[in-house]
Amino acid sequence: MTQPLVIAVVGSGYVGLVSAACFAEIGHRVICVDNDEEKVRLLNDGGIPIHEEYLPEMLGRHRVGNIEFTTDLHGAIKQAQAVFIAVGTPQSDAGDADLSYVDAVATAIARSIDGYKVIVEKSTVPVYTNEWIRRILERNGASKEAFDVVSNPEFLREGTGVTDFLHPNRIVIGVESERAAKVMRQIYEPLTSGAYYDLPHAVPGSRSAASPPPLMKMSTKAAEMTKHATNAFLAMKISFINAVANLCDAAGVNVEEVAAGVGMDERIGPKFLRAGIGYGGSCFPKDVAAFRWVAEQLGHQFDLLAEVEKINCEQKKLFFRKIRSALWTLRGKRLAVFGLAFKGGTDDIRESPAIEIVQMLLKEGCCVNLFDPAAMERAKAILEPGSQVAYVSDIYEAAKGAHAALFLSDWQEFASVDLDRLRQELRHPIVIDGRNLFDPELMSGKGFTYVSVGRPSLAAGVKAPH
Ligand code: NAD
Repeated sequence: MTQPLVIAVVGSGYVGLVSAACFAEIGHRVICVDNDEEKVRLLNDGGIPIHEEYLPEMLGRHRVGNIEFTTDLHGAIKQAQAVFIAVGTPQSDAGDADLSYVDAVATAIARSIDGYKVIVEKSTVPVYTNEWIRRILERNGASKEAFDVVSNPEFLREGTGVTDFLHPNRIVIGVESERAAKVMRQIYEPLTSGAYYDLPHAVPGSRSAASPPPLMKMSTKAAEMTKHATNAFLAMKISFINAVANLCDAAGVNVEEVAAGVGMDERIGPKFLRAGIGYGGSCFPKDVAAFRWVAEQLGHQFDLLAEVEKINCEQKKLFFRKIRSALWTLRGKRLAVFGLAFKGGTDDIRESPAIEIVQMLLKEGCCVNLFDPAAMERAKAILEPGSQVAYVSDIYEAAKGAHAALFLSDWQEFASVDLDRLRQELRHPIVIDGRNLFDPELMSGKGFTYVSVGRPSLAAGVKAPH
């Protein structure tokens, strides 16, 4: 494989920590920097602050030797040949991306730079941020020759972050100098050459030595725009199918059949055509808003994105109305709630539609038994345990005596729940499914009144109309 580099990754969150572990996995030496002392202490003690498949094994493999965790940014910059900025870029009150964390890191890098470094923007940022980082570095004393700023947006999805990183559809690098491009090619060479996939410990995925990922070189601005446009398009696909689902509800049509038919068209594809309670998480909501803001700054109204946001917001309210119409009154009812994370497979509850729906239920006087395989600890900070809110340790305990079960995140293990046992535990056999995890006819046959999204609701024992 290629000559290993020393890489500093600043920010040890969902993107930073996964990227760092994966860089170590493909042979580089990595220094992971975070200003959250508690997080760094946890990592140094062998803990892992996030839930990600394969991350424990990979950190276990590389902790000794290839990867270290520190709060010392200055020391890390001194040693590193490439510095990845992977700090948060949350939504500001105005809707644009708050770039103050990126600014703080760029300023600190400028003060520590002592030789040529490639500074890599990994965080999702609006077009022109690359130029701003360059300007910040120069303003704070770094000489033009001492660095290049590259844009290398990350497309991983939480829950499958490691596999996505090591088996990407594409690696995008926005770069203006050949010197920096060479460093970036060297970093990703174990993936782009396919050499990684032949290693005995390689994490399995869709790529192989015979079909390695392409590295796409473009301008820095194009790379920044590519990331925003990708997330905006995916969010649009979700809102589109949700809008179609609402028509299906009105017409008595099964949206899954429609989505399957639409998705078979090669020009469209089947992914992200799953109707539900809307998108959430730390990326789509803020990135759609930030992209709309970028458009405005460039003198264009991207009204399509406003509609995407509106449909997404409505979707939660429509689902809430379904809960109400299934239960008639809400005050005093106890509901079993399955899923708090913004989707299955992660512990991330940022902008989670599940949390929002639970908050609406609490406001109406409902009591909830909450269960999520990974997100309960994080949820406790927002939905405090008390007389209305109970956290339980498994699905059946949550269902015990509840007036209905709500499915709000698409965890794999929910789909394989023992339905007979679920029905026995519930006070009333009512399932309201915001993720279309079950087959309506099966549910009805099992004795449930079953309500889902964009599919005809069925009372117990009733067959779906065809
Ligand atoms: P996160 O909040 O999980 O992690 C950010 C980390 O940066 C935190 O650990 C924080 O303590 C640290 N940090 C903040 N300021 C710092 C500083 N000055 N010095 C050192 N560390 C600092 O965020 P995330 O979800 O990993 O997202 C990071 C970026 O990647 C965002 O721009 C996001 O849009 C983008 N992104 C996220 C995903 C995702 O699925 N989460 C996917 C692709 C891209």
